[in-house]
Amino acid sequence: MMSRKYVKREGPWIPSVPLVYNHKLPIANIEKYWKGLDEGRVFATKCTACGTVYYPPQIDCPSCRSQQMEWVELPKEGVIDTFTKIYARPQGYEDFEPYIVAIVHTGGLRIMGWLKAKDERCVKVGDRVVIRTEKVEKHNKHIIVFELTDKIC
Ligand SMILES: [Zn+2]
Repeated sequence: MMSRKYVKREGPWIPSVPLVYNHKLPIANIEKYWKGLDEGRVFATKCTACGTVYYPPQIDCPSCRSQQMEWVELPKEGVIDTFTKIYARPQGYEDFEPYIVAIVHTGGLRIMGWLKAKDERCVKVGDRVVIRTEKVEKHNKHIIVFELTDKIC
């Protein structure tokens, strides 16, 4: 059994200035990606000149500098490449239960999302997953989620 050691420092201390950043992210060229998430689909872009596929989507090909890109939908299945459980949640996620973030191989690419599993100790690299999206009501946004195909953890 793994044990965790925490070092907690007692005061004196002062609170930091609260940090809240709200940005408007320009998505004009990748709107299809965000709309895809709303529909449960994950899109990448493919360069029609050299064939390279990009995720996250790229508007121009960093490889051959072509601007001839097309959208390709990624498969709805994949394999876990790596994962970790997030206990120290970032701003905006403080009130979420600790969650598992995974990187999944699909369509020759790696994509990141949340792995829907309660017990990360029974999850293994190489486990097969279904890829879908789920709305996070708090953020009014769809995110990529993975569900194990062959077992319940
Ligand atoms: Zn290219």
